[in-house]
Amino acid sequence: MNARQPIAAQDDDQEELILDMLDRFLAVEVKPHVHKLEHDDIYPAEIVEKMKEMGLFGCTIATEYGGLGLSTRTYARIVERISQVWMSISGIINSHLIMAMAVQRAGTEEQKRHYLPLFATGELRGGVGLTEPDCGTDLQAIRTVAKREGDEYVVNGNKMWITNSLYGNCIALLVKTDPKAEPRHKCMSLLIAEKGEGFIVSKKLEKLGYKGIDTCALTFENYRVPVGRLVGGVEGKGLQQVLGGLELGRINVAARGLGLAQAALDEAAQYAQVRKTFGKPICEHQAIQLKLGEMATRTAAARLLVYAAADAFDRGERVDMEAGMAKYFATEAAQENSLDAMRIFGAYGYSKEYNIERLYRDAPLLLIGEGTNEMQLIIIAKQLIERNPA
Ligand SMILES: Cc1cc2nc3c(=O)[nH]c(=O)nc-3n(C[C@H](O)[C@H](O)[C@H](O)COP(=O)(O)OP(=O)(O)OC[C@H]3O[C@@H](n4cnc5c(N)ncnc54)[C@H](O)[C@@H]3O)c2cc1C
Repeated sequence: MNARQPIAAQDDDQEELILDMLDRFLAVEVKPHVHKLEHDDIYPAEIVEKMKEMGLFGCTIATEYGGLGLSTRTYARIVERISQVWMSISGIINSHLIMAMAVQRAGTEEQKRHYLPLFATGELRGGVGLTEPDCGTDLQAIRTVAKREGDEYVVNGNKMWITNSLYGNCIALLVKTDPKAEPRHKCMSLLIAEKGEGFIVSKKLEKLGYKGIDTCALTFENYRVPVGRLVGGVEGKGLQQVLGGLELGRINVAARGLGLAQAALDEAAQYAQVRKTFGKPICEHQAIQLKLGEMATRTAAARLLVYAAADAFDRGERVDMEAGMAKYFATEAAQENSLDAMRIFGAYGYSKEYNIERLYRDAPLLLIGEGTNEMQLIIIAKQLIERNPA
């Protein structure tokens, strides 16, 4: 799974063209609607349709399978820009593209030819079903079982916190095909699970932030999947396949953190110039300058780490350490900047009329999703030792 093909980088002109188009879309079609959609927790159906038209559901899918074939760097910049405006709609394509990446990297040629074009247009769209009520970090402890019966798997179990599972129609589902196998990862497999009988969305979950996008609890009751939908056609490779896709997932969560950190910085820098206390704009008070200085430095450093990880991913290198550093640093920057922005805004930061409280509610998710930041530090330390033997 680590021996990946390098991904062609977009030339600068092409990248700028794509980003300009995206900026126009965000300014005209998204920004004016964010406040209402966020506070009423409304799924942004019209925005999703436009994202389909723009090809965003196929960002990282190879052109030969109908996608845009963008480099990870361009994709990271797309995620960064979207998250500056509204992080929730980034989630609509992010976990979808982790599913697509798992199929693109580990699927059989037949699976790629069938599924990737459907993923690229968004006709089939969704995410990844890994987490369960009793386990998230320790994925080898999952209990969802897929038992083979003839040409089908019969799936029973529960999944928790699955994004895009109410309005989407397909997920990459991590299951145990042989619950007794040792070591535990040998028994894990990944299924392409299209909605059907026995695939039950049991509850849409209420969240602190990340509103508008659907995150649900799922139940599988004798849900039948044809054996042809076992990713790669071989049992026991599911964990490896999922972890490969999560490297891209970590880069995109890092890019979300970067976008959010930048948004908090931009809002704070603007506000600090117009809000006056004791006869001068607050940006002239040293206490505020110290905050702005730290916020700007964090954001710039996060950008370097995110782009470096994306470039390494594009070169086909092993990037668990680089993606871990980018994810850890950029998401902590998002959390810290959102709190600093709230302090700079004073009471208005606490108001639902302004964006700061949304950034403050959205940031903590980034510390948890795609592997908690505690786990990123452990991965970084392990890699550090492995790459530097005494
Ligand atoms: C809004 C939202 C959307 C999500 N979307 C999805 C999705 O689409 N698909 C999906 O599969 N999941 C999704 N998740 C779940 C997410 O991936 C998990 O929450 C995450 O992996 C952490 O798992 P957990 O919450 O079970 O925490 P736990 O694994 O229970 O961890 C609890 C704490 O213990 C720490 N910890 C655990 N093990 C160790 C260790 N070995 N050493 C040190 N510390 C440790 C963790 O860092 C954490 O601080 C989503 C979660 C949220 C909140």
